[in-house]
Amino acid sequence: MKAKRKTYSVIVDLTKVQDKAKQRAFSLPPEWWEITEGPKYPLLGLDQDLEADITLTKVGKRFEVRGRFQTVLRLQCDRCLEAFNSPLNSMFYLILERLPEELEAEEEHELSPEEMGVDFIRGDEVDLTEMVKEQIFLSLPMKALCKQDCLGLCIRCGSNLNQGSCNCKVEQGHPAFQALKALRLQG
Ligand SMILES: [Zn+2]
Ligand SMILES: [Zn+2]
Repeated sequence: MKAKRKTYSVIVDLTKVQDKAKQRAFSLPPEWWEITEGPKYPLLGLDQDLEADITLTKVGKRFEVRGRFQTVLRLQCDRCLEAFNSPLNSMFYLILERLPEELEAEEEHELSPEEMGVDFIRGDEVDLTEMVKEQIFLSLPMKALCKQDCLGLCIRCGSNLNQGSCNCKVEQGHPAFQALKALRLQG
């Protein structure tokens, strides 16, 4: 028998969100991220539990979602490849609407201006952890750096230059010219 995989889903049934706002507070351990499927880079994981507080309110046929969460992300530096911690304190706002049934079969649906900024969902259930996951990705920097002036790795020997200079000679000039020079020396 296959071992049952632990799941951290926090499901809200939108049909139960009526006149009263529905609030859910939950926490997700670092393990949640480890077993989460999909691309992860440059996020290596969470360094502490993620604490989230999300409120859903029904407004006409739509649902407003106001959420906040905090955790500490473990990222990989783009330059030196070392792991580093980056605290994340996030607030977000979303509008959800159930995709009209006649459109459910449609692969792509051209959005009208009125529909811009609305997240269309299929079915009546939403998983709040999926929302948090998406927000984490939106929060990631284009370039993850352990510090603004990270020196990165030596392109020759690969040593981490933040930990001191290596023994490679610093050569001036464009790498292409250096390659040419090396060829001439060989020939
Ligand atoms: Zn770095
Ligand atoms: Zn070096």
